[in-house]
Amino acid sequence: MHIKIENLNKIYKGGNYALKNLNLEIPNGMFGLLGPNGAGKSTLMRILVTLMKPSSGKVTVNEYDLAKNRREIRSMLGYLPQDFSFFSKLKTYEFLDYTARLAGMKNGAARRAAVDQMLEEVGLFEARDRNANKLSGGMKRRLGIAQALINDPKIIIVDEPTTGLDPEERIRFRNLLSTISSKDVIIILSTHIVGDISSTCDNMALLNQGKLAFAGSPEELIREAKGNVWLINATETEYLEINEKYPVISTIPSEGGWEVQVVADEINGYYGKQIEPNLEHAYVYFMENKLNQWTKA
Ligand code: ADP
Repeated sequence: MHIKIENLNKIYKGGNYALKNLNLEIPNGMFGLLGPNGAGKSTLMRILVTLMKPSSGKVTVNEYDLAKNRREIRSMLGYLPQDFSFFSKLKTYEFLDYTARLAGMKNGAARRAAVDQMLEEVGLFEARDRNANKLSGGMKRRLGIAQALINDPKIIIVDEPTTGLDPEERIRFRNLLSTISSKDVIIILSTHIVGDISSTCDNMALLNQGKLAFAGSPEELIREAKGNVWLINATETEYLEINEKYPVISTIPSEGGWEVQVVADEINGYYGKQIEPNLEHAYVYFMENKLNQWTKA
């Protein structure tokens, strides 16, 4: 699978520019779309799942043009929106059976078998007779992913994947997605939480104010921040100064003061050393540093 986005623009009514001349290619595998709130992620997701049309520009999925072959592209899609909700009266298996029917699975016996298998895969088989509305937050999210996967989609789009999940459920959810990221499938995770994408994504893009700020692998983004992350041993007074001057990533109490991680080109006058950046450091570095310069340019 291959998605190509060319010169994509979306202007909402009132002149609000949500996407600005976006160019991006998404190959097979897990793809992280990262950016702060308002960056344009949901707008891009809604365009990709054919719920909304762009103002201009082109999207192609393999040989299909999104503007002309909506039906073909829809049949390849599985979508888990951020605010996924259930009909109040349906049991867990009834809900999944209903979505399978909507996805075009007409053969009753085959559909029921697929529903049972999917409930097993997401760990909801035991809960199949429970009212879908009464499931826990994590279980609802798993039922959401089950409905997105039931029709064997080639492109899976998940908006804000860990919203409302506790840490253990986050790991389960991530593992579930990794197991289905086979050779010819694209999984797009759209999120403002760096931790959602760090360990799992093969490729990623950073969106800011509707523009593409970075596209590449998480390792490449991390490499960009190399030499710009510091661990400073600071006294209480220094800490207050540092907090004013630099983006602080973390603070740990230490003997006689604080160990402060900051993103900066240099730390003139403070006692500290450079440390290896991780994705969170790189994200902050990019947002604080590069994008400020870039917005001014
Ligand atoms: P994200 O998902 O990254 O938080 P969105 O795609 O929701 O970003 O929003 C991008 C920009 O478009 C924001 O400035 C937002 O306020 C604006 N926007 C989103 N939806 C609409 C809408 N229906 N009408 C007008 N502006 C919108």
